[in-house]
Amino acid sequence: MDYYSTRPMDDEEPACKLANAMMASGGFDSVTVLSREDGHVVMFAPCQPVPDGERVARMCDQRCNRAESEGSEYVFVETGMHDQMALCYSSSGASYEVSRTRCTCPDYQFRCLPRGIACKHQIALGNRRAAAAS
Ligand SMILES: [Zn+2]
Repeated sequence: MDYYSTRPMDDEEPACKLANAMMASGGFDSVTVLSREDGHVVMFAPCQPVPDGERVARMCDQRCNRAESEGSEYVFVETGMHDQMALCYSSSGASYEVSRTRCTCPDYQFRCLPRGIACKHQIALGNRRAAAAS
C-alpha cells in the first residue's frame, strides 16, 4: 500500500481536523496524525488509487448535490485576481480560494484534483456566476 503525507503543520489541531475529515470521507485507509520534529503531518493511503469511472461519476453527483443544498449558504467574494479567483466563506467558518481550475479545500486537494473533478465550492461558484449572469 502506498502512503502519502501532507506538508508539516505547526499545530496539531488542524492536522487532526484534516485527518478526521479524511476519515469521514471514506476515501482513505489508515489516516493517522504523526507528530514529527518539523511539525504535524497526516499520513494516509487512498482506498482505491485508481478509481473506476462509476465511482468518479458518483463523486461528481455527490458534489453537485452538496453544491445545490449548501451553495446558497456560501459567501463568495470576487477578487478580480488571476484565474477569476474568488474567496469562498462557508457556513462552517472555513474560507477557501476558489476558481474554475482549483480550490484550496482539502476535498479538492486530496480527492477531486487527482480525479479531475470539481469540488462543491467550484460547482457552487459556477452556479452562482451563472445565476448572476442571467
Ligand atoms: Zn473546494
